[in-house]
Amino acid sequence: MDINTYTADFLAAQQKRDPAQKVFHQAVAEVVSTLKPVLEQKPIYLKEKILERIVEPERIISFRVPWADDKGEIHVNRGFRVQFNSALGPYKGGIRFHSSVTQDSLKFLAFEQTFKNSLTTLPLGGGKGGSDFDTRGKSDAEVMRFCHSFINELYHHIGYHTDIPAGDLGCGAREIGYMFGQYKKLTNDFTGAFTGKKPNWGGSLLRPQATGYGVAYFAQNMLATKKDTLQGKTAIISGTGNVGVHAIEKLTELGAKVVGFMDYDGSIYDADGVDAEKLAFLKDLVFVRRGSLKEYNKKFKKAVFRPGQKTWDIPCDIACPTACENELDEHDAKTLLKNGCKCICEGSNMPCTPQAIEAFQNAGILYSPGKASNAGGVAVSGLEMTQNSMRIYWTREEVDQYLRRIMNSIHTSCLSYAEEYGMKGNYMAGANIAGFIKVADAMLDQGLV
Ligand code: GLU
Repeated sequence: MDINTYTADFLAAQQKRDPAQKVFHQAVAEVVSTLKPVLEQKPIYLKEKILERIVEPERIISFRVPWADDKGEIHVNRGFRVQFNSALGPYKGGIRFHSSVTQDSLKFLAFEQTFKNSLTTLPLGGGKGGSDFDTRGKSDAEVMRFCHSFINELYHHIGYHTDIPAGDLGCGAREIGYMFGQYKKLTNDFTGAFTGKKPNWGGSLLRPQATGYGVAYFAQNMLATKKDTLQGKTAIISGTGNVGVHAIEKLTELGAKVVGFMDYDGSIYDADGVDAEKLAFLKDLVFVRRGSLKEYNKKFKKAVFRPGQKTWDIPCDIACPTACENELDEHDAKTLLKNGCKCICEGSNMPCTPQAIEAFQNAGILYSPGKASNAGGVAVSGLEMTQNSMRIYWTREEVDQYLRRIMNSIHTSCLSYAEEYGMKGNYMAGANIAGFIKVADAMLDQGLV
């Protein structure tokens, strides 16, 4: 059977099996579309049914999370952990707390995480977890009760050599602290079973900054292939969370001017760019006061707040989507291209729709998928695990050096695998192929488990 028929039949069978899991199928289709030359060259993957095995999570845990709010009213949320693939190491990936969380969305994120973690060069399997619990609008005490209840079940399934959760959307140092505290209480064991811990009790310096900084380093590498730099370029991002704010910080430090960003309420257009004072304000607004961007232009009067509007119509050289999946569609892509954008560097997981990616690739501009350019966060999580095992702390400079080295290595892998398999300059193909081959070969070595 020829490879096109094989992959088409494979995708159709997957969709028939779980017709409702749209984002998962989208992620699988994207990966499979770039693997055809690999499958042709290495028929052992077909014989050993690697595709069929690699899209099936090793385990999914689904559980009830009851908790009481400050008034004593009882709520019931759903908790999940998708332990996707452990061929390269213990399951590793974040926890997402957001009303949009479903088993499907976590299955897609855990699938992506498997390839992302493979690209980091570190011994990490792939997983993801979370709950349809929204931390927005909840008191600290409510968040704590929820996190404790979440861990009352999850602690059975995680551990330093088994599965190491971290943060993600809606889950930062506060939530990791509450979950770690309850995990330690129940197991009577102080280990590095979580990453994203605060540095005074086992966390790595630069972990909060790592994803955003990594995005900026990756964009710098992409531009270097065109003998260009970030100096003087205008940039926009989307979500102003942990990834977005730190991407703004590093892009600015490397010479770019960040003129647009957004949150749940709307977007900011700031033609002058973000300077040190504005960045300090943003960090306090987002990380300390958990406030809205509506406040930004009350303080910085020349900036414009655009209620309910995305950032993608703001003219820029570089765009870094840093919010959530499918946040940038074909229309947004065409607007970006019309306005002269030359580089898309994804900071979130699968933020561009397939049609948007096609538009970027047809236009021949630089485009990198999140599994490559946002891998800095999980990479520094891997470094946090190493520091915990060694019972030492590395300095900021040491961690930053490793982070840069890992982002450079991912960038090189993307380009060399894309070229080797006849898709020169295609970061998406390179990332998928490099990530896939390492996991697939480990699966072959470990037999039918
Ligand atoms: N949630 C982050 C990601 O999507 C980090 C995961 C981790 O550090 O384990 O890669």
